[in-house]
Amino acid sequence: MADCSSIRKFKDAADYRKNFIIQGEIDKYLPGGRHFIDEALINRCIKEIAEKPADPVQVREILAKSESTCETLLPEETAVLMSASADSALFAEMRATAERIKKKVYDNRIVVFAPLYMSNLCVNGCKYCGFREGNALQKRRVLTMDELKEELDVLAGRIGHKRLIAVYGEHQTTSTEYIAETIETCYNRKVPAPNTGRLNSIRRVNVNAAPLPIDDLRVLKKVGIGTFQVFQETYNRKLYEEMHPAWSVKGNYDWRTTCFHRCLEAGVDDVGLGVLYGLCDWRFELLATILHARDLERWFNIGPHTLSFPRLEPASGTKVPEESPWLIDDDTFERIVTIARLSVPYTGIIITARESPKSRNRLIGGGMTQLDCSSNIAIKGYSDFANEAHQEKERQQFMLGDNRSIEEMVRYLADRGTITSFCTAGYRCGRTGGCIMDALKTGREGKFCKINAVLTFREWLDDFASDETRAIGDKLIEKELAGIKEWLPKFYPTVMKQYEATCRGERDLFF
Ligand code: SAM
Ligand code: SF4
Repeated sequence: MADCSSIRKFKDAADYRKNFIIQGEIDKYLPGGRHFIDEALINRCIKEIAEKPADPVQVREILAKSESTCETLLPEETAVLMSASADSALFAEMRATAERIKKKVYDNRIVVFAPLYMSNLCVNGCKYCGFREGNALQKRRVLTMDELKEELDVLAGRIGHKRLIAVYGEHQTTSTEYIAETIETCYNRKVPAPNTGRLNSIRRVNVNAAPLPIDDLRVLKKVGIGTFQVFQETYNRKLYEEMHPAWSVKGNYDWRTTCFHRCLEAGVDDVGLGVLYGLCDWRFELLATILHARDLERWFNIGPHTLSFPRLEPASGTKVPEESPWLIDDDTFERIVTIARLSVPYTGIIITARESPKSRNRLIGGGMTQLDCSSNIAIKGYSDFANEAHQEKERQQFMLGDNRSIEEMVRYLADRGTITSFCTAGYRCGRTGGCIMDALKTGREGKFCKINAVLTFREWLDDFASDETRAIGDKLIEKELAGIKEWLPKFYPTVMKQYEATCRGERDLFF
C-alpha cells in the first residue's frame, strides 16, 4: 500500500471546496500575476493572421520547419496554418506533411488502450457533463477494489488490454488515496488469457482526474502513474467561468491551468493536455494549447506527452452538447488535428471513442497515435455487460460514437497497413519526460515503437485473437519484420531473439 501520510483529508464537500486548492502552488507559476495564456496575443493571431489569406511561400516554410526540427511552432506560425487550412490545395500539402511527421516520430503504429471509469461522484457543476453535482438523473457509484478486479478480469483477461486511462470524478471520498489504491490494484491483477492461459495484466495506468497539489502528485508518481491527463475544457477565461460555477473547485481557472507545472515539479513527467472542442472557437483553443505547451517547455524543457481531442457529446441532464454555438463538424475536426500534429510535431495525439468510426478513420494516417477500442464508460460497465457494446446515458458521463471491438479495430488497422501496438515500454525503461522528448524529435523513439509494437502485437495475437484475425496479423508482422531487417540490419538478430522468445510464450519483452 502506498504511503499516503502526506495527503490532506477533508471531512465533507464544503471543507474540500474551501480548502483543497493551494494558492501558493498557483502563484509560483504565474510570476507577477501574468498568465501564460495571453488572450490578447491569441486574439491578435486570430484577427491579424488566421483571418487573412495565407502566403503559400510562408506556409511551405513553416511546414519545412515543423518537419525538419519537430519543435513546437510559434503561435503566429500556427495561425498561418489555420488560415491555410481553409484552402483545399494548401490543406492537402499540410495533411501530407503531417503524415510524414507522424511516420518519422511514431512510425506506422497506433497504440490502443481502454478507458476505465472508477467513480462518478463529483463536487463540481460543469454544465456539459453528466456527472455534475445536482444531476439527479445520474446513477452514482464508486468502484470497490473487488468490483475493480472484476472490471480488470474483462479488460486484461478477455479483451487483452495492457494500457488503461483510469477516469475519476472529483470528490473528497475518491481522493488521491483512492486513486493510488486503484492504480496499485490495476497493476497487481494478473488474469489468464483465453487462448493460451498465459497471465496478462495492465502494464500502464494513465490517469484522467482533477488537478492535484504537488504532494498528492508525488504519491501517484510512487505508485507508477503513466500519463496524468487533465483537459482544460476551454482556455477562454470568460467561457470557462460560465461553464464552471464559481462555487466549485473546478471554477478556479488558474488552479487548472497550472496543474501540469505542479506535475512536472512533482516528477510526474508525462503530462496529457486536452481541450473539450465545441465549447469555444477552436482557433482560440488550439493557439492557447500552443502557449501552454511552450510555457511547460520554458519552465521544464518538457512539453505535452500527449494532446487529446475530446469533442462535446450528448450527456444526461444537459443541452450544452447540442446547443453550444461553437460545435464543429468533421472537416473542421480534421483541420484541428492536422494543425496540432504540425504545431507540436513530437506529441502523441489521442482520439477517443467519443468520435464516430468515420471521423476516427479519417485521422489514422495524419495525426493520431492512440485510440481506445472495446470501450465501455459506464461505471462497472465491462463486467456488467460482458463486453457488449452497451450504453446507458444515466450511467455514463456522455455517449460514445465508436463501439468497435478490439478485433474489428485490429483488422481495420491491418487493412490500412497499420500495426496495432500494446506497447507500454516507454515509462518502464525511463523513456519519459525530457528523456523521451529528444528521442521523439529525432525519430529514434519511432524505431523502438515499431519493434515493441511487433512484440506486443504478437503477444495479443497469440493470447487473445480469433484464428481469422491472427492470420491477418501474421501477414502484417512478416512485413514489419522484413522492414526492421532492412533498416536495422545489425540490430535485427537481437530483435529476432526477443520475437522468437515471445512466440515461445515469454511475455513482456521490450526495448
Ligand atoms: N472530473 C475530472 C475533471 O473534470 O477534471 C476528470 C475528468 S472527467 C471525468 C473527463 C473529461 O470528460 C472531462 O475533462 C471533459 O473534457 C470530458 N467530458 C465531460 N463532459 C463531456 C461531454 N458531454 N462530452 C464529451 N466529453 C466530456
Ligand atoms: Fe465532475 Fe469532471 Fe464532470 Fe466536471 S467534467 S462534473 S469535474 S466529472
